[in-house]
Amino acid sequence: MNADADTRKSLSRNVIESCLAMNAQGINQGSAGNISVRFEDGFLITPSGIPYQQLQHEHIVFIDMDGNCRDPLAPSSEWRMHRDIYVNRPQAGAVLHAHSIFATALSCLRLDIPAFHYMVAVAGGSDIRCADYALFGTQALSDNMLAALDDRRACLLGTHGMICYHDKLDKALGLGIEIETLAKQYWHARQAGDPVILDEAQMAEVLTRFESYGKQPVDGD
Ligand code: 13P
Ligand code: ZN
Repeated sequence: MNADADTRKSLSRNVIESCLAMNAQGINQGSAGNISVRFEDGFLITPSGIPYQQLQHEHIVFIDMDGNCRDPLAPSSEWRMHRDIYVNRPQAGAVLHAHSIFATALSCLRLDIPAFHYMVAVAGGSDIRCADYALFGTQALSDNMLAALDDRRACLLGTHGMICYHDKLDKALGLGIEIETLAKQYWHARQAGDPVILDEAQMAEVLTRFESYGKQPVDGD
């Protein structure tokens, strides 16, 4: 087997492991959601509608940035959102979309997640926006997503769920878990009263601190 085929096989396995982990961590259920990883001049993405426990590495579909796909299985219906993130965010190496309970509940109320907690900065700014609703699998949904992702690496999708990206698969999974945690915390805080929202100056301090937070001397990036 050549090096490209080897790399594809191992990345495809990583995608499947991430899907299984996403469901095991409780941030998605059934065959909802989808995960991809950048590969060569396109990306590898889960096929549409197949339960993750049934997936083998050869089921993971390659799509180029023009949307061409020559593999036997149909790619995730949401390949446009993944493609548009890779095209518009050169730093994106992996994308995760999930129907996690609390992020989805907030998305059904069409609520942004404001700076009720400083950790919203993990998405790259002072809030996590909720994109306008559009039918799943459409370019309109992807266009709405890109608007909500301006200067951010995660957003809610109106009456649907959430999507996020990072440079690596494990970090995209970690970010997805964090977004769901924030959605849950915000949900609970709203049940008890009106959460106090940090102002722009307070969030600017957080974002500055995040540039160095968690970096150990051994880290390469
Ligand atoms: P796929 O099974 O086609 O990836 O669709 C799941 C989903 O979440 C659609 O929004
Ligand atoms: Zn979905």
